[in-house]
Amino acid sequence: MKSIFINVFNVDFHRYISLLIIIVFIRQTSAGVLPSQDSVSLYTANDKVVILTNQNFSSTVYQSKTAWLIEFYASWCGHCQSYANTYREVAIDTWGWKRIVRIGAINCYTEENSAICDQHTITAFPTLRLIAPETTFNTSKAISLTANDAKDVERELIKELDALQIADKTWPRFRPLNQIAFSDIYSHAPTSVKLMLLIVEKQDDYTGRQIMLDFSKYHEQLTIFRTTIDGKLWHRFQLNITELPALLIVHPNRTTERINTKQNNNENMGSRNLFNYAIRSYIHEKKCIDDFNDRDLEEIIHSKNALKNADKLKKSDTDEKKPDDVVETNTISEKLSMVDLETALSYMLRREIPRIKEIQGEAYDALLHWLTVLIKYFPGREPVMTYLKNLLSKVDNQPNGITGKKFREFADINTPESYLPNNQVRYQYCTGSLPRYRGYPCGLWLLFHTLTVSQVQSEPKRMRIIEIPSAVKSFIKHFFGCRHCSDNFMKETSDFHQLDSGDKNSAIIYLWKIHNHVNKRLHGDETEDPKHPKVQFPSENLCSKCQSDDNNFDMTTTLNFLLKFYSKNNIDLTSVEDFTPSGNIQDELTRKPSIDQYEMIEINHDSTKKFRNIRYIISIIQRFPFYFLIFSVIIIIIIRKRYCKGKRKRYTL
Ligand SMILES: Cc1cc2nc3c(=O)[nH]c(=O)nc-3n(C[C@H](O)[C@H](O)[C@H](O)COP(=O)(O)OP(=O)(O)OC[C@H]3O[C@@H](n4cnc5c(N)ncnc54)[C@H](O)[C@@H]3O)c2cc1C
Repeated sequence: MKSIFINVFNVDFHRYISLLIIIVFIRQTSAGVLPSQDSVSLYTANDKVVILTNQNFSSTVYQSKTAWLIEFYASWCGHCQSYANTYREVAIDTWGWKRIVRIGAINCYTEENSAICDQHTITAFPTLRLIAPETTFNTSKAISLTANDAKDVERELIKELDALQIADKTWPRFRPLNQIAFSDIYSHAPTSVKLMLLIVEKQDDYTGRQIMLDFSKYHEQLTIFRTTIDGKLWHRFQLNITELPALLIVHPNRTTERINTKQNNNENMGSRNLFNYAIRSYIHEKKCIDDFNDRDLEEIIHSKNALKNADKLKKSDTDEKKPDDVVETNTISEKLSMVDLETALSYMLRREIPRIKEIQGEAYDALLHWLTVLIKYFPGREPVMTYLKNLLSKVDNQPNGITGKKFREFADINTPESYLPNNQVRYQYCTGSLPRYRGYPCGLWLLFHTLTVSQVQSEPKRMRIIEIPSAVKSFIKHFFGCRHCSDNFMKETSDFHQLDSGDKNSAIIYLWKIHNHVNKRLHGDETEDPKHPKVQFPSENLCSKCQSDDNNFDMTTTLNFLLKFYSKNNIDLTSVEDFTPSGNIQDELTRKPSIDQYEMIEINHDSTKKFRNIRYIISIIQRFPFYFLIFSVIIIIIIRKRYCKGKRKRYTL
């Protein structure tokens, strides 16, 4: 009997353990729905850009022998996506400079990397920073981002490398040799030098410095100096040189020899390429540098061609796609998702806004205005609305402004009665066909439209038409990380003060028009998800009567559609997350502000108090399955021991 029982018990015990392990496994893998670092990165291992993460940042960048140019970006940011090819080009063009400077990029969107981006006080994307060699911590230098041109970035980079004024002999001597005696020139080179070149150029020319960097790998044998036409050295040459920039060999006996840089007949080659070609030809011919090879150059040419081909392929792909194909693949959602709205809110409050180190003055007013509008018009669930009210009251209690860090601390507080799910990346209808598409900006647009409709439907006694457009505008101005998008939006909404105050729907129409304008601008752009093309909204599939034959919108039908589409009744609540405890639970209810001060609209009650305790326990189990497993195993072992002990006693009696 005993052995039968123990066997049965053992079988059940093992089954139970296996079941628990499976549950834990499923739970862990479903948590893995979160995009991995690799999947959201805008760069791949095939690029010459080093992918930096929280795992490798410190060990790679700090105390490095080389300087680092780092792009801090967010993969959701449209401008970062368009900019990625420019940055790839920068990395290819500077591949030969890797002994002096490396090119890296870090995605600030992932939670894991966010602390590094915060350390570097990154407030807008993309931001380029230069970190000097041997830097111990975040003494990074801002390097301004000029246009979309890789050449401009390279010039900025050279200027900044030059400004570092590193005296090390292995570092290129960027400063022109203007104040030295020509007879002394060899004393400025290492004793191992086998070839000395002098580039004579105008002051603002970059050729000399580019060439120094291109050949920096051979610094022990090849010394390259530059002199500009205002210095002493120039006077020695000016009779012989009529065309600048010029390339000279300085022999050990101080005689000079001009190298013909026009050997290559390609008219389109810039002076950097012409000089490169001439120097390489000379070295190959004279065999004056040991182990000299063109491997880096070959790699550069190969990578450039690959980049061009990928670009061409993408363009022809977009051009060839017939409109019908596009519509076929486009999944059209007729509903809104509360998950999307809450996820965008969570990312905004916990990541976007806290990026601003000191929220003061105009930015602080913008924050108060934005939170007030959310509280008044966001058609959220009860605990989410309480969360927003608590947050506003805390911010309001800091009249001199608030640090981003403090704001994040406040925004992180979740309690069973006042919470915003701490999910910042998982979207429902705003999910793109690739992790970099859609997501946060999609959720933001939906939130803005929902607010305008909610304002009209809540029928406040005194309605200020520009209340929402002005709150949205100042939020975008101060807090939207995609700087380029924010600048565009500021221009596109410059006329918002002229909104018709006599028409209660004018804010809805205004935002709809602006959004369609942005859709038109971005249609066919590389930020466009091929499965969700940026068409004029609402498309025919969503509202067949909104657009007439001549592609103009019928305003009455369109307005009715928008009022319905963005109404709170059209929000899908099925997949919303309930409360999960975070590290710093505090009972915030004791400090609950009076809600009467806000003109509240009706909100959805999706949970009854009756089940709150059970849900709370379940949420803890879901949150900590591993501890739950260990706890269960211990309980089972104790019960089993007790039972066996009892049995043994009974048998011995
Ligand atoms: C304020 C702002 C400015 C931006 N500026 C830029 C920029 O300059 N450059 C850039 O690359 N990216 C910009 N973006 C991002 C870009 O607009 C998209 O949000 C992003 O590319 C994701 O596109 P999406 O396909 O998810 O559709 P989104 O344009 O994000 O739209 C989300 C959803 O809104 C609905 N919708 C679409 N159009 C309308 C409309 N007219 N009225 C009402 N509802 C509509 C649809 O259901 C759609 O799925 C900006 C985003 C915001 C919030």
